[in-house]
Amino acid sequence: MQLACLGACNEVGKSSFWLKANQVRILLDAGMKIHDHNEIPQFNKHQCDALVITHAHLDHSGGAPAVYRNANPLTFCTYPTEPLVNLLLDDSEKVALDRKKALPFSRDNRRRMDKKTSCLGYGQDYEFHDGTRLRFLDAGHIPGSAMALVETRDKSLLYTGDFNLSETRMHHAARAPKDEVDYLIIESTYGMREHPPRRDLERDFLADVRKAIEDGRTALVPAFAVGRTQELLQVLHSSEFNHRLYVNGMGKQVNQIVSDYPSYVRDFDALNDAINAAEEIRSNRQGEKLMGKPCAIVSTAGMLDGGPMLSYIREATKKGNAAIFLTGYQVEGTNGRHLVEEGKIKAEGGRFQKIDLPVKQYDFSAHAGKHDLHAFVKKVNPQKVFCVHGDECGEFAASLRNEGFDAVAPKIGDAFKL
Ligand SMILES: [Zn+2]
Repeated sequence: MQLACLGACNEVGKSSFWLKANQVRILLDAGMKIHDHNEIPQFNKHQCDALVITHAHLDHSGGAPAVYRNANPLTFCTYPTEPLVNLLLDDSEKVALDRKKALPFSRDNRRRMDKKTSCLGYGQDYEFHDGTRLRFLDAGHIPGSAMALVETRDKSLLYTGDFNLSETRMHHAARAPKDEVDYLIIESTYGMREHPPRRDLERDFLADVRKAIEDGRTALVPAFAVGRTQELLQVLHSSEFNHRLYVNGMGKQVNQIVSDYPSYVRDFDALNDAINAAEEIRSNRQGEKLMGKPCAIVSTAGMLDGGPMLSYIREATKKGNAAIFLTGYQVEGTNGRHLVEEGKIKAEGGRFQKIDLPVKQYDFSAHAGKHDLHAFVKKVNPQKVFCVHGDECGEFAASLRNEGFDAVAPKIGDAFKL
């Protein structure tokens, strides 16, 4: 095997790894860094026969069509990932058009990718002509998310993509493969940090949302469309929450897609009940009129860079009758981060607007925490570990070396003979 690291090295964004397994050249993820200038890895340096998309998030899938500028690989992903990727790519085209930014691929590249995409279920093997096998394992991160296991006759490599090793309302925890693997590429997003226990987190979140509503405020819950919206609808559709629940933004379309793949969520009935209980907001006017009403609204964008949630916040700021509950990490440079750190968001025209509404932030992360990551590496017991996708990959690799593993945090362009 040979490995070349093309992206997500000591950073989160544009994940991509090129692997030559026996005769087959496989690109593991083809992400795009959306908060910069739609930056993608340099795919054209490496030919590929297959492209594996572990999950729909754009930092893993957003550059996939660009691979087709210079190559014509088979693309593999799970069944829900294909429509989710298409939804997110459509959205990124819209955003690029609005912001007058170019995307690094054409419509034709997308059409070619569509034609060449095959879906695999979890645990199903695809065998290449030379006997190399590809298998997806449930990553527990978002609907359809997968770890990719690549095996030749004498070597194996596991790429975790993004994964969660704790159970959530949406997913079972990801589990290590039955057999140990030789090489492991592992995400390190929370390599040096722990998450609060999910149960406590949900309890606190629910109590705070209820309190805000009882104080006469509308609870505004910005959420990512894929996974997070569905999880929060389930948390809010509980016996302890007896206020009206609304949903808007791209999460509505994701609700439909996820509903088509019941076997890709942990408790489909619970999810379905929550989706049916949430009323869809159909117009801007309807949403803005809800400000000050005793209800919760779950909507995109999760980091407040656009979407209906931004207009609700602006409207509520005029009236002073809402509270904001951020539900995840806010990347630097986003409105969500400006709000948390400076109490303001970027309004139309690029000026900042002060937001005088209560703001709270919760860690509903879909990534494995430090302890779970260490336990996973021990279980998989690889000869070599590549720590990627995080701000502290180097520290995480060092902590694994302390436990006796051969662990590295590669740089972009690094290549390894395995
Ligand atoms: Zn992800």
